[in-house]
Amino acid sequence: MRKKGPFRLGIMGGTFNPIHQGHLVAAEVIWDEFKLDEVLFVPSGRPPHKENDEIAPPEHRWMMTVLATATNEHFSASPIEIKRKGESYTYDTILELKKIYGEDTECFFITGADAIAEISTWHKAENLPEVTKFIAASRPGYKLDMEKIHPRFRKCTYLVEVPALAISSTEIRKRIKRGQTIKYLLPEAVEKYIYKNHLYQ
Ligand code: ATP
Ligand code: MG
Repeated sequence: MRKKGPFRLGIMGGTFNPIHQGHLVAAEVIWDEFKLDEVLFVPSGRPPHKENDEIAPPEHRWMMTVLATATNEHFSASPIEIKRKGESYTYDTILELKKIYGEDTECFFITGADAIAEISTWHKAENLPEVTKFIAASRPGYKLDMEKIHPRFRKCTYLVEVPALAISSTEIRKRIKRGQTIKYLLPEAVEKYIYKNHLYQ
């Protein structure tokens, strides 16, 4: 049963191209450690400047995100960034989520160690600490270090160690191209979906 107090919402943003066990394990461990009520996976829309054919169409990334999160009762997925026209910014996403979940929702934006070092460069970055806290998950190859985080964000950022899974979407895409197995690197339903739709070939 949910304890009293504001709803604690974890927000896991990503390209999810494709979603994999690294994302899922990080979200699960953080859900547990931070006593979150829910972790919401938000796949990004089509990146505006990157005309990158490495990125599967949003509809497919959305479907894979739904498949990967469907069987965990405290995971869910939101298409708000996929549906948004034009550029999509974390700040706007969080404001929109607060309208849906309630203005007093406590938001925890979950990122990997690689992404957290860059938040100060994000759009409307200076306003982000007013609307969300950040949880930076360790990730193999990226040393977690408060020094790397812009001073403005240090107060609202938690660093956490998650079991290291040296998995990245980039590596999974390469393996598919080379005809190598991707079994157990991502949920079976996602693996099947990728082959059925000939993604990343
Ligand atoms: P790509 O290789 O295409 O960049 P990715 O594996 O980094 O893909 P993203 O969709 O870019 O996946 O990641 C979404 C978020 O999940 C980012 O904040 C990223 O740092 C984090 N993340 C990705 N893989 C892991 C992992 N193995 N452990 C912890 N965090 C991860
Ligand atoms: Mg990445």
